Amino acid sequence: MKLFLRTLFLAILCTSMLSGCKKDDSSPVEDPKAENKKPLGTSAEDILSDDIYQSLVVELVYTQSFQPDPSSILAFKDFITARIHKPGGIVFIERTVPNQSGAPFTLTEIKAIEESLRTKYTSEDQMALYVFFANGSSNNDTQTQVTLGTAYQNTSMVIYQKTLETVTLDQPEVLPILEQTTLEHEFGHILGLVNIQNDDIHTNHEDSNNAKHCMVEGCLMYYDATNVLRSQLKKNLSRMGAVPQLDPLCLADLQAKGGQ
Ligand SMILES: [Zn+2]
Ligand SMILES: [Zn+2]
Repeated sequence: MKLFLRTLFLAILCTSMLSGCKKDDSSPVEDPKAENKKPLGTSAEDILSDDIYQSLVVELVYTQSFQPDPSSILAFKDFITARIHKPGGIVFIERTVPNQSGAPFTLTEIKAIEESLRTKYTSEDQMALYVFFANGSSNNDTQTQVTLGTAYQNTSMVIYQKTLETVTLDQPEVLPILEQTTLEHEFGHILGLVNIQNDDIHTNHEDSNNAKHCMVEGCLMYYDATNVLRSQLKKNLSRMGAVPQLDPLCLADLQAKGGQ
C-alpha cells in the first residue's frame, strides 16, 4: 500500500512537472482542426471570398444504405459554384462509408461521427467543408416535429437522409427537390444566413417569428429544415414543384461578404 501511495505521489509530481513545462513552452501545440471547430456563420466571409482562402474543398460523406440522388449532388455543386468566389477552384470529394451506429443521433453523436469520418480540414489557403448524409434520424424528432438537416458548426452540416426518404415515401418524385432544398438551406446557414452572427447588411430581413430565417416567403432561407412540423411538411411537399431560390436580400448579404 505504501509503495502504491509513493508511486501515486511520484506520478502526480511528474504530471505537475510536465504541465509546468508545457506552460513555459513558447510554441504550444496547435489543434490542426481548430479552424473547423468555430460557431456557425463565423466563416461565412472566408468561404465566400478569396481574401484569405483561394480555394475550397467540399467533402460529401454518404453511408451505404442512404445516399442522395446524383441529380441533387450536381445541383448542390452548381449552387456552391454560383455563390462562392474562389479563383483557385472548388474541389468536391465524395465518399461512401459504412452505416454509422447510434441512430437516432444526438448532435454530440453527429460531432463524434465527424471526428472519425472527416478527412479534409482548412489549411493555409484552402477552406474545407464537410457534409454528412446520416443513415438515421435526429433524436430531436417527435410525433409532431422532424429535423431534415442541421448546420452545426462553421464548416459542418448533417443531412438526415433517412428522414428525407421516409417523409417522401408516398411521393418519391419530391425526394430530389427536398434533398436539394435541405442541402442548400443548411449551406445558407453556414454562409451566415440569416443574420446568424448579427452582421448581415442593409435591409433587415430576419423573420421576427422565425429567428435566423428570412422573412421573404418563397426564399430558400424562409423554409426551415430544423424542427419542421410534420403536418406542415406534408402540405409543403404536396406543392413542392421546385427548389426555392435565394431572394435578392439574402443574395445581397452573400455578396457583401465577398460572394457572387
Ligand atoms: Zn434553417
Ligand atoms: Zn431571403
